[in-house]
Amino acid sequence: MTTRSDTIQAALDWFDAGHFLAELRRRVARRTESQRSDAHDELLAYLEDEIGPALSGSGFAWRLLDNPSGGVPFLYAERHEDVNRPTILTYGHGDVVLGHDAQWRSGLSPWTVVVDGDRWYGRGTADNKGQHSLNLAALAQVLAARGSLGFNVKVLLEMGEETGSPGLRALCERERATFAADVLIASDGPRLSAHRPTLFLGSRGAFNFDLSVDLREGAHHSGNWGGLLANPGTILANAIASMVDGRGRILVEGLRPPPIPASVRAALADIEPGEPGGPEIDRDWGEPGLTPAERVFGWNALEVLAFRTGNPEHPVNAIPPRASAHLQVRFVAGCDHTAFIAALRAHLDRRGLAAVRVAAARSEVMRATRLDPGHPWVQRVAASIERTTGARPAILPNLGGSLPNDCFAEALALPTVWIPHSYPACSQHAPNEHLLGSVAREGLAIMTGLFHDLGEAAAAE
Ligand SMILES: [Zn+2]
Repeated sequence: MTTRSDTIQAALDWFDAGHFLAELRRRVARRTESQRSDAHDELLAYLEDEIGPALSGSGFAWRLLDNPSGGVPFLYAERHEDVNRPTILTYGHGDVVLGHDAQWRSGLSPWTVVVDGDRWYGRGTADNKGQHSLNLAALAQVLAARGSLGFNVKVLLEMGEETGSPGLRALCERERATFAADVLIASDGPRLSAHRPTLFLGSRGAFNFDLSVDLREGAHHSGNWGGLLANPGTILANAIASMVDGRGRILVEGLRPPPIPASVRAALADIEPGEPGGPEIDRDWGEPGLTPAERVFGWNALEVLAFRTGNPEHPVNAIPPRASAHLQVRFVAGCDHTAFIAALRAHLDRRGLAAVRVAAARSEVMRATRLDPGHPWVQRVAASIERTTGARPAILPNLGGSLPNDCFAEALALPTVWIPHSYPACSQHAPNEHLLGSVAREGLAIMTGLFHDLGEAAAAE
């Protein structure tokens, strides 16, 4: 019988022999840019020629599932061992954002992995090919060591995440029985920092909206008309100032979250956001009385993303006829985004700002999700990671950013535990995207240890 440490060591030996890098090179070489309209064949080939065969080799049965949106199908794979054992659903995305080949540093290319010290450059190394490849490799390692996993696994891979996951939510609603599981364990996004293994349990939502004030046709000379005509820019600036104060505190009651739950506050107590090389955090910004971690992971933010009146590039001495602004609410679980517009309308009307129009933006709303940090699955995964790395992982109730976790947390009603293998400065979605070799190696150890432990725990149950 192989021990836990033998199994992890075998996985690390496989990694150190270059097998993981070789696999990643092959996968990164596939130009799976879902934002390119002619990429259909490459997207499909990633599933059919790359992931499917790899899963077959690990005893999975796989097939393609129609995409309800009409886009590229999903890959679904299953390894069923025993109905009395728990079932894990895992997820990844094989598509990447556009390569932007010309913008990479000289000597680098999005489609060829270049190793420079600890950095492994290439499009998708971090987001998300490297991450799901590590998880599938860890499953294969535990299987090779033990002959069976000791639990059941379902794998879902999509090829449209970078275009907003078209069809994913509808697929989860349609295939609820197929995807039935005890937990989602998946990897995407960054750790809190390169050196701190991290769990996150959901994501903040994002709701964008437009404000506009449109008073008349054409501009009028500010000398002849200043003092006589209402200025839309002034009205809009005052409207925004009534919604969020000069230090970023949200003033619209309906856009503020419920109090931070004690378990969330406790999980955030040892979290320090920020990254070396990143911008300095403004200590006096946001909701007073909250720590920086509470502000970005436990609270809502109202951001002015764009504001326009007159002609900002070439101002003229005229009262502009109109003004517009584009704003965003980043919101935590527990907020009802469908009530945001009505709350804003009522807020403006109460202040005599009926001239300010408010409308939801056309962009898709990202929903907010959050699993309670005290949930048994969180504690189980955290304990396993601590056993492998010797340190307690950071537990983020949710990411500050967004990902399609509502498909799993709401449509499938699963507890969701994400174990990211990247770090904040990975240049995801930008030129020079890279994975850190050291973090990937530790990620493989973490996942191998976790899958080993889940099989053991299931056998003992
Ligand atoms: Zn991405």
